[in-house]
Amino acid sequence: MLGEVTARIIETLGEYERSHGLPKSWKTPLVAVASAANANFARLKEVVSPTHLLPEDILPGAKSGVSFFIPFEDWIVHENTGEGPASRSWALAYLQTNDLIAHINVSLESLFQSRGAATGKIPATHNFDEERLLSDWSHRHIAYIAGLGSFGLNNMLITSQGCCGRFGSLVTDFAFPEAEYARQGPFPERCLHKLRGICGLCRTRCPAGAYTPEGFDRHRCYARCLENARRYESLGLADVCGKCVTGLPCSLRDPSL
Ligand code: SF4
Ligand code: SF4
Repeated sequence: MLGEVTARIIETLGEYERSHGLPKSWKTPLVAVASAANANFARLKEVVSPTHLLPEDILPGAKSGVSFFIPFEDWIVHENTGEGPASRSWALAYLQTNDLIAHINVSLESLFQSRGAATGKIPATHNFDEERLLSDWSHRHIAYIAGLGSFGLNNMLITSQGCCGRFGSLVTDFAFPEAEYARQGPFPERCLHKLRGICGLCRTRCPAGAYTPEGFDRHRCYARCLENARRYESLGLADVCGKCVTGLPCSLRDPSL
C-alpha cells in the first residue's frame, strides 16, 4: 500500500505542475508511514507542546500516520541563498507547495476511501497558536517519527534530499502491513554539528538573530517572516524566510554521506 500512496502523491504532483503551467519546481517526494501505536507520538506532548495532538485526536480509531516530504528543485534553493529578504521564488514555492499539499491530501483521501478507510487531514501550515507560535500538529515531527530524517542544529529535519522543501502528513484508520511501518527511532544523525561538532553555518545565517544563547526565539523569527509576507503581499500570505536552510551542506542532500 505504501507504494500506491507514493505513486498517488507523485501523480498528483505531476498533474498539479502541468495544470498550473509551472516550471519544474519539485523533486520526487519522499513518503513514509508510522503506526499510530508508535510510542514517539505520545512524546510529542513533551518535545513539541503539551497540547500536541495524537493521531487518535485527529481521527478516532486512527491506525497510521502518513508523512511526505516534497523537496524543492535546486534553482529555488539557490535563489534564496545569501543575504537580504526571502526571494520571490522561495515565497511562491511556499504558497504553491501548501496548495499542492492540499491537493495531495484530497487525492489520498479518495485512495483510502476506495479501500474503505477514513482520513483526517491537516493543513500544511497556519495551524499554529498565534501567541505561542507553536503548532498542535507538527508535520516535521511526524516525518521524524515516520523515519524521513533527523533534526539539524537549525531544528529542521534533514532528509536524504536535504531540508529544503515542505512536509505534509495525514492520519488514516487504514492498517498498513506491519513491514511498511517505520521502525521506532532513534535514527542516525545527519547534521555535521551533531555528528562531529563542526559546521554550525545555519545559525550564523539568521538575519533576525533568532538563534540566541538562551535558545530559539520564535518571535524574532516570525517577525522577520512577516516582513517578507508584507513584501510579497500580492502573492498571498507568504510568511517565510528560509535563510537558515539555504546554501548549507544539508540544504539539498544528506551531509553525513
Ligand atoms: S548547516 Fe551544518 S550545523 Fe546546521 S543543520 Fe546543516 S549540517 Fe547541521
Ligand atoms: S527562518 Fe529566517 S528569521 Fe527564522 S530562524 Fe531562519 S533565518 Fe532566522
